[in-house]
Amino acid sequence: MTIQPRHPHLLKLVDPPILVGHRCITCERIAFPPDPYGCEKCGSPASNFEKWDLQARGSVQAVATVHRHHRPTPPTPFTVGVIELVEGPVVKAIVEGDGVVVGSSVEGFLAPEEPDDAGNVIVDLRFRVTR
Ligand SMILES: [Zn+2]
Repeated sequence: MTIQPRHPHLLKLVDPPILVGHRCITCERIAFPPDPYGCEKCGSPASNFEKWDLQARGSVQAVATVHRHHRPTPPTPFTVGVIELVEGPVVKAIVEGDGVVVGSSVEGFLAPEEPDDAGNVIVDLRFRVTR
């Protein structure tokens, strides 16, 4: 049994977790997830990118409570936040805890999900409110 991230190319298994994005060498735009075709800001090709580690910290820009969805996990209701990371990119993720509002500061952690068919523990990035 091993612990594996749901998206191994996007997440490092450290505490706190690190998101793997990229930075455009030409215009210094930081992106997450990585742009596969080139820079959305200046048009440089993807060969002009360098990998860039992003902190899993940010602030909530929008929030919604999910009451029904097509999978058995996570159990409903749960909260999804649009989170602006401190380095600028915006991600959507589950935010745990009470009192999640626009402007809440959040930090990421690795939450275990359903094991895969081989019994490996799959973890994915979630956030929790820090203030
Ligand atoms: Zn660029």
